Amino acid sequence: MSGVAQAMAELLAESGEGWSWAQVWVERTPSGFDLRHVRDRETPVGSLRKLEVGELRDWADEAVNGAFRPLKSAPNLRAGWHCGVTDATELETALEVLYPGSVADWWVARHEPGAATSFREYFGRQTGIYRVAQRLTEAQAALAFGACCAPRFCLKQRLWQVPGLAADREEATSRIPCLEPCAIALEFGRRTMKLGMEDRQMLGLGAGESATLLAALEKAAVAPLEKGAREGDLASPSNPRRFQLLLDRLRTELPAVVDAPGEG
Ligand code: SF4
Repeated sequence: MSGVAQAMAELLAESGEGWSWAQVWVERTPSGFDLRHVRDRETPVGSLRKLEVGELRDWADEAVNGAFRPLKSAPNLRAGWHCGVTDATELETALEVLYPGSVADWWVARHEPGAATSFREYFGRQTGIYRVAQRLTEAQAALAFGACCAPRFCLKQRLWQVPGLAADREEATSRIPCLEPCAIALEFGRRTMKLGMEDRQMLGLGAGESATLLAALEKAAVAPLEKGAREGDLASPSNPRRFQLLLDRLRTELPAVVDAPGEG
């Protein structure tokens, strides 16, 4: 039995008749397994579009807003489909397309304590344009990756360590572990460092104005992406992760505003 097959067998042994894998609901059926979006768990199968395993890649590549999904663990998998597979091997193939590397990583996280890297170790190995991210302070890194890996942007359970930032909990994310920064986190670390190096501009705001700014950022961070907007475009000032980063920074620096009651 291959390593991944063994991991799949172990995952099945520990899962019940129906279980979620990030945004996918997997259920045992008399002929194998049925996969669908968790949101469609109670939807009659006849109302769902039937996808073959070979069609899952195209489905997973496109977000609700029509843009490419660079991060398969982002909570923007389209609903409205189901896919039947006959056995554990086909199930592993389907999950590998929907969440690449997830079953193997799940197994590694359980059997190899210490498999998750640390922010310093990972960024310390970077060269070229990413070398600048090595200069992130621990406080900057905690803000950056708290924003970048927030469950509203990614359903993987971040286990790689950042000083001052607790690892994700399974209940808030999913059973799929993240053992090292992905390409988006790497770029977001670089972008955060570059933003932090820009000249500061002073802006005097009253408490009510600051509260309005925080409220606007909170709304912007959770708003659905506009048609065609790409979540991986971190150079865009209107990228949701950048809204989240600024929001978290202001919450840290303006605690009096965060705690203030609404105006009378
Ligand atoms: S590094 Fe963060 S955003 Fe990237 S996959 Fe891991 S948890 Fe998700």
